[in-house]
Amino acid sequence: AEAQLRQSQKMEAVGQLTGGLAHDFNNLLTGISGSLELLEKRIGQGRVESLSSYLDVAQTATRRAAALTHRLLAFSRRQTLDPMATDVGELINDLYQLLSRTVGPSVRLQTTLSPGLWPTLVDRNQLENALLNLGINARDAMPDGGTLTITSSNREVTDDDALMLDIKAGAYVVICVADTGVGMPQDVVAQAFDPFFTTKPLGMGTGLGLSMVYGFTRQSGGQVSIQSEPGQGARISLYLPRVAMTTAPARPGNGSQAALPA
Ligand code: ADP
Repeated sequence: AEAQLRQSQKMEAVGQLTGGLAHDFNNLLTGISGSLELLEKRIGQGRVESLSSYLDVAQTATRRAAALTHRLLAFSRRQTLDPMATDVGELINDLYQLLSRTVGPSVRLQTTLSPGLWPTLVDRNQLENALLNLGINARDAMPDGGTLTITSSNREVTDDDALMLDIKAGAYVVICVADTGVGMPQDVVAQAFDPFFTTKPLGMGTGLGLSMVYGFTRQSGGQVSIQSEPGQGARISLYLPRVAMTTAPARPGNGSQAALPA
């Protein structure tokens, strides 16, 4: 639980930092980009064409940096969640095409439609983004192809498990995103949720994907956990709380879904 607290404090600090930083950085980039454009025009008028290739490079780099700041901004904005009662299985089904295009043709995407899933109270956009982030990570972990399996199921979390997971005991829908990729050693698992932690080559990863997934599940009253070993693939589990029942069970003793914890 202490690690969880440290994690949320880190998230908070990084959120504030990146908000201000991204904004100022973006203003600077606008200036750089404008100047480069003017320079390019002047060079075009004179006879110093050889310089323009350098300017091309600078332009491209500037554009990439701008794209990064947009991502930072999206990350740091006090995301106002718009939670709605959501059938997670349906959402995954609707996202299938986009997910499969995201992971590419070398990854086999398997999703199981689980009937009778409890509704969860989540921000649908954020859940979609979280699943896309996990899809991108899985793709990157399977450079030679593999299988990405997404399953969802109902789970009653008991007191003991709740303590371990640092969530309330009760009813959750668990989404498992499992790949057959390179997996992670324990020290990577331990840092994977840290903002800006990445093992990917420069320019390939931001280190923000999993910290966004973490932020989203915690804000939703749930949890995210990683099971992975080198060479054994990775399994990311998202716990999302079931929509709280607002009315008492109408017919006690009918044995259906009345088993909500006190
Ligand atoms: P990024 O993907 O930009 O590096 P993330 O926060 O999404 O940032 O992930 C952090 C790190 O966790 C990755 O750089 C990688 O080392 C590790 N990781 C995440 N997902 C997986 C996965 N499915 N398989 C193996 N390693 C992973």
